[in-house]
Amino acid sequence: MAETALGGGLLAAGALLGWTVGDAGGGFGLGLLGYVGWHLRNVLRLTLSLRSDRDVPESIGLWGDLFERLYRARREATVTRRRLAQIVQRFEESSAALPDAAVALGDHGGIDWCNEAAQRLLGLRTPRDLGQRITNVVRDPAFAGYFSGEGDRAAGVEFSAPRDDRLILHAQIIAFGQGRQLLLVRDITQGRRLEQVRRDFVANASHELRTPLTVVYGFLETLTADAGELPERWRRPLDLMTQQTLRMQRIIDDMLMLAQLEGDSRRHTETDVNVPNLLQQIRSEAIALSGGRRHRVEVHADPQLWLRGNETELRSAFANLVGNAVQHTPDGSLITVRWGLLDGCPVLAVQDNGEGIAAEHLPRLSERFYRVDASRSRARGGTGLGLAIVKHALARHDAELLIESQVGVGSTFRCVFPAAATRRSASVTEASRM
Ligand code: ADP
Repeated sequence: MAETALGGGLLAAGALLGWTVGDAGGGFGLGLLGYVGWHLRNVLRLTLSLRSDRDVPESIGLWGDLFERLYRARREATVTRRRLAQIVQRFEESSAALPDAAVALGDHGGIDWCNEAAQRLLGLRTPRDLGQRITNVVRDPAFAGYFSGEGDRAAGVEFSAPRDDRLILHAQIIAFGQGRQLLLVRDITQGRRLEQVRRDFVANASHELRTPLTVVYGFLETLTADAGELPERWRRPLDLMTQQTLRMQRIIDDMLMLAQLEGDSRRHTETDVNVPNLLQQIRSEAIALSGGRRHRVEVHADPQLWLRGNETELRSAFANLVGNAVQHTPDGSLITVRWGLLDGCPVLAVQDNGEGIAAEHLPRLSERFYRVDASRSRARGGTGLGLAIVKHALARHDAELLIESQVGVGSTFRCVFPAAATRRSASVTEASRM
């Protein structure tokens, strides 16, 4: 409206001026020129303001409206920019305060961003390392293997810090967005050290207890051997003392075995283990353990199927499962041990037709000292550590323990080994034939 009035005014004033000097047309043309000039001036001011981000000019009419809108849009953009800058600053401050390293990775593992802890723990340098592949900067083989997809993604990987191998780090990769990944790295040195102290304590305490107990057991054996010469009232206490001493010895042996399985992170000595043969030995031991309780123990084993692993640890795991089947089933129960390939993986299954285990106990069964019926387990010579040993021994072979059980029907304990551990014996010996 205003610039129409201005235009009209300029034209009218030009015409009036022209008329007074006797050239109305020329005056009108002059007024038109002034009007066009005003528009051109505003175009120029707008261009300058946009180009140099300078203050928005002021004007009237259409131009005034346009400049006003431009001014408001600029002000909003400035406010938004300030707010975003504050958010970024706050994010950077909080990520810098994080004790854990965080690294955002783009395409092909290139480093997009990292926080201060990443610089401290992983030795990354910004901006020098930005855009570099993370595996070019963190060169640990375990980390590189995990990054390329080996192992369990969710479980993460442990490795030594690149710049200080006394530090133990745990890394985990989390996928987000499209093809993007977040690498989180924690310093777990302190926790590992405490675990080691606890393990050493248990192992040392067990070891220290072993010697006095052997002495006590030795004297008890001598005394019970001469039981005929002892007063009658001493016989039962001596029998009980012998039983309990043996129980303590079994607990100590199991604790030492567990400490050994947990403590040694080095890969154990592996050989090709003749499992069919091992199962025959375990069968004989189970029948001896059953004694007068007349359990039937059947072994159905693929005679040519051997396993790559540590024989002592495998024996301990398998013997515990067969021993449990004897201990925790009624007299005369049938125990069936099967050894063969299932979907290409070596599997050992120990099945019994005992009383079974209620479903609520199954998830906790392999915890230390967890027993369905503690007093009955103790009475049958159980230590409560058997399944914990089985689980640890299997974990060291990358194997899994699966338990199925139904009350009143029986239980099946399965050890599932990776296909890669399969070995085939060249010759089948008589001893290993079922
Ligand atoms: P324990 O020394 O008591 O046998 P384990 O860790 O070997 O300790 O087993 C834990 C518990 O699991 C046992 O106390 C028992 O209650 C239960 N259990 C293990 N094997 C069997 C089985 N074959 N049948 C029934 N219960 C079993």
